[in-house]
Amino acid sequence: MPKLYFSGGNLKVPEGGQVHVQYSYGAVFKSGETVREGLADAINEGRLALDAIITHMQNQGLSGVNDNFKRWATRYMLVDNAGPSQEEFNTILAVLKLTNAGVNNAGLSIKVYSSKGSSRGYVTTYFGNSAASKSHRTPGMYNPGEGDMKSGVKGDIHMSVGGIKAKQLISAKLFVHEATHKFANTADFGEKGYTNDGTGAFRESGLTKEQALMNADSYGRLAVHFYRGENNMAQW
Ligand SMILES: [Zn+2]
Repeated sequence: MPKLYFSGGNLKVPEGGQVHVQYSYGAVFKSGETVREGLADAINEGRLALDAIITHMQNQGLSGVNDNFKRWATRYMLVDNAGPSQEEFNTILAVLKLTNAGVNNAGLSIKVYSSKGSSRGYVTTYFGNSAASKSHRTPGMYNPGEGDMKSGVKGDIHMSVGGIKAKQLISAKLFVHEATHKFANTADFGEKGYTNDGTGAFRESGLTKEQALMNADSYGRLAVHFYRGENNMAQW
């Protein structure tokens, strides 16, 4: 389990979790509100999903990926029905591997915040060397600056209470989504790139394949739906 930081004192720690310090951010939770123990399960599913898809891609190679992989890669990476090109395959695998290395780092922290607004989760980039910046860092992505450019580090993964109270599939997808931001520098593309919880459909049309291959939600969906497909688990 990663270290967990909560924004209020009333949140129950999932089994196996360790509260490093109380985390102070924004509004406090309603009295008595608890984090369902499924948070641990969701994080675990996200990790298992990353491991499963990476193992499949590495063992099978481009020509050997199965229909389950192609189905979800077509839907969320917008690659051909027949499967990705070698370059697309390499890009997908590289992002997944960076993310997987990050989420298995013993220093990983997750911050749980209240659900004001519509955001389900986020990762912030910090520039420079301020104390505030340092306090938010966990081992992970570091982008050395070049020339006059400031260097930046990715902050902790933040998951909202709403995001972790959702179905486990959605919580696991959110965890992978945020982890790809932190460890593999993926992006969001607004409503074109986000997906609806219930149907998994992109909220708006218009995402290009090039964007999909950098889109955090596409990776979250690809990994979790692939994993569930391999294990005959419910997809929605
Ligand atoms: Zn995002």
